[in-house]
Amino acid sequence: METKLVFREQNYKKCNFHTHSLFCDGKNTLEQMVQSAIDRNFDQLGFSSHTMFPGKTNWHMCPENYFTYILLVKKLAKKHKGVIDIFCGLEADYIPGFTVPSYKTYELFDIDFMIGSVHYIYFDKGKRFTIDGPVDEVAQGLNEVFAGDGKKYVQTYFELQKQMAKNFDFDIIAHPDLVRKRNDVLHFFNENDGWYKRELEDAAKVFAQSGKIVEINTGGMARDDLKDAYPSDDFLRLLYKYDVPIMINSDSHSFETLDFAFDFAKTKAQNIGYDKFMCF
Ligand SMILES: [Zn+2]
Ligand SMILES: [Zn+2]
Repeated sequence: METKLVFREQNYKKCNFHTHSLFCDGKNTLEQMVQSAIDRNFDQLGFSSHTMFPGKTNWHMCPENYFTYILLVKKLAKKHKGVIDIFCGLEADYIPGFTVPSYKTYELFDIDFMIGSVHYIYFDKGKRFTIDGPVDEVAQGLNEVFAGDGKKYVQTYFELQKQMAKNFDFDIIAHPDLVRKRNDVLHFFNENDGWYKRELEDAAKVFAQSGKIVEINTGGMARDDLKDAYPSDDFLRLLYKYDVPIMINSDSHSFETLDFAFDFAKTKAQNIGYDKFMCF
């Protein structure tokens, strides 16, 4: 039996463990992503197709395609060995009562790493509300599910993040303050409020206890939704205070954004004090 790879804290290497391809909602093939990563001098590239086993949506990979995906990524890893290290992962959704990001849930599948993500704040057969959905969807969900109460929405989001980090066995916490994504337009909370800062501190403590890695995710910048990466400087400062390990990813849905705003993210981390990053 192969031993499982482990992420270790190291000096900065050019890596991206959060990337999507045509297997879910990405725009490019695995091969195109790999070629672009080679052209951009990456040391390590990890694929992380969206999953919500045993379910799926139009942006999640179909369970019947999991084996093909894993096989093709492993083939590419072999083919490009010595040039770039390629790893096979999943970005697994956390939807309480429906699907969880854990190696137990995905035990049939031989993957190298797993990202845990909270994308849904409300999930019902007839009604779904995604945190990073279009502005209209978030505005409507905020009104229908939380009666317009932004604080309650944000607190529910962090409660899900903490539950996920605490209770399940995976490696990386995705976009840790994704709830900020539509706040620039909808203004449903103020990041400077005391209650919000307390939420961040509480989450940082739970993340630290969980032993998980938190990513700096430039995906919101690549899609022009946000001028900053996830997490905010305030949140990152707290993660640093509690010794939470980090990595830099671009949540890339096309080969063009594989290293989008990486210099920005690296400077952001270093300004706060981080000089080590997690990779294989
Ligand atoms: Zn995500
Ligand atoms: Zn993603």
